[in-house]
This record gives sequence, structure tokens and C-alpha cells, in this order.
Amino acid sequence: MDIAQQLQSIRKRIANAEKKYHRKLDSVILVAASKCRNVSEIKEAISCGQRHFGENYLQEALPKITALQNENICWHFIGAIQSNKTKLIAENFSWVQTLTREKIAQRLNNQRPDNLPALNVCIEVNLTGEATKSGIRGDEVLSLAQKIAAMPKLKLRGLMAIPPPLEDFAHHCKIFHKLFLLKQDLNDKGFDLDTLSMGMSDDFEAAIAEGATMVRIGSLIFGSRRS
Ligand SMILES: *Cc1c(COP(=O)(O)O)cnc(C)c1O
Repeated sequence: MDIAQQLQSIRKRIANAEKKYHRKLDSVILVAASKCRNVSEIKEAISCGQRHFGENYLQEALPKITALQNENICWHFIGAIQSNKTKLIAENFSWVQTLTREKIAQRLNNQRPDNLPALNVCIEVNLTGEATKSGIRGDEVLSLAQKIAAMPKLKLRGLMAIPPPLEDFAHHCKIFHKLFLLKQDLNDKGFDLDTLSMGMSDDFEAAIAEGATMVRIGSLIFGSRRS
């Protein structure tokens, strides 16, 4: 896989989607999902100007973060969070996109180092009610958002979702639209959310059509995962 070429082609597709769906140019951030990728693959993406990377597993991420600490990278935690991992997550990441529990939020808030700015967080929402998917129900979001809003070392930026794969464009749009409405509703209730993290390799254009401000793409950049 030619990472440089893939990144260029994805950026072009993002720009085309921004134009087609009347989104502002450069309003969508590309987060490279780099789980299972090694430091040299990540470096190759960095050399093409990629700055945001998402990691799912803390133990796998830490050596990469250390190896790349002199690069100007913004690390996003996008995996399931165990409570015994919160301290290292709070110390090493700029974003946590997968918050689903008050207890985890509280720990991240308490463990975020004083010398770092507030940790940017998104609440992960399960839009389809699939039991196998992570994320909380739409009707549970307001209550968690209110609790996070009271935590000074967390900055609630928005919502994140991972809808099921293998659906057509229109169906994807319908699911992503639910997240858009949920964010609108929170902002109507006084929140100031600016982030909708939705869309992956197979569905990011539908996500952009529905208001995504971040798309998280892995296999399209780096090739299919080896593990
Ligand atoms: C792996 C992953 C992605 C990227 O998935 P691809 O299909 O490889 O683009 C996005 N979001 C999350 C949370 C992931 O774990």
C-alpha cells in the first residue's frame, strides 16, 4: 500500500464531499486509525502531513507515542476504556472519543495532569441498538453530557459513533443523521459541541454529507489489517 498516494486520494475525496454536500472546505479532520500499524508506517503518514492519529489499545499505543514524541501529533484514543488504563490515557492523549461512563470520565478528569490543557472528549453513541456495539443510547447522552460539563479537566467536544458496516449510502446517511440531530439537540439545550466523529473507510462520504467533522480511516490509508 502506498500510504502517500492513499492519503492524497482520501484527502481529495474528503474535499470533494465537502464541496458536494455544501460543507465548508477543510471542515472535516482526517484521523488516521493506526491500530496494528508500526512506527515506520505512521512516520510515512506524518511525512505526508498527517497529524491526527487514533489508537485503540493503550499498550500498543504507548511505545508509538514515545517513539514519535518529537513529532507534532495529536493522539486520539478511540478504543474501549478500562478503568485501570485511565491514568496513562489521561497523560498521553489529546482526545478520548469513546467515553460512555461517568466513572471513567471522573477518573480521566482527576488524572489529567495539571500542566496539560483539558482533555478533549466525545461521548460514544450506539445509534442502532446493536447489543454487540459499544456506546450508550441516545436517550442516555444528555445526562452523561451534563456530568462531563462539570469536570474542569475534560472538554466535551461532541459525539462519536461506529455504525454497522455493509449498508448502502442512503442507509448510512439515515444512521449518521441521528447523531447530527443528537448534537443539535444538546446544543439547543446550551452545550457548545463542535465535533461529530463519524465515518470510516467504507462510509465516510455519507458521514460528511450528514455533518461529520472528523472521519476515522484506517484500512483505506494503510491497507487491510494484518492481525
Ligand atoms: C479501526 C477503526 C477505525 C477505522 O476503520 P477502517 O475500516 O479501517 O477505516 C475507525 N474507528 C474506530 C473506532 C476504529 O477502531
